[in-house]
Amino acid sequence: MAVYKIVEVGDEVLRERAPKVIKLGRNIEKLLDNMRDTMYAYKGVGLAAPQIGVSKQVIVVDVGEGLVELINPTITDMDGSETDTEGCLSVPGVMGEVSRAVRVRVKGLDRSGHNVDIEAEGFFARALQHEIDHLNGILFLDKAQNLKKM
Ligand code: ZN
Repeated sequence: MAVYKIVEVGDEVLRERAPKVIKLGRNIEKLLDNMRDTMYAYKGVGLAAPQIGVSKQVIVVDVGEGLVELINPTITDMDGSETDTEGCLSVPGVMGEVSRAVRVRVKGLDRSGHNVDIEAEGFFARALQHEIDHLNGILFLDKAQNLKKM
């Protein structure tokens, strides 16, 4: 079990476009394990590698339906639009309203290198979009309205 400190807004790693993972193996498996442990320790529903200071295209999401690990995720389809409240472990104590697609289709790889193709809706789709944004240096703050300090 390895719980990392979450990198917070102001750190440049959160603003970088994370490079794709080229080689799978022990390092990526360890990264995924550490991200999972960190996400659960902080009671988050998702975490992107840059949030523990690692600029790589890796995310984990668990909205209560089981853990999803994705390497090099890309959104291949989206539709609908809805606005809901969001927060981020890297922006503690702040919430805001963010408009996102209702449904997304996301492709990527799992830790074994198998292709993954996920169709997600609602909160799961929102979490995926939020985490994939992190890989492009985008924070929910950039898209949010009615930001509130908690
Ligand atoms: Zn976030």
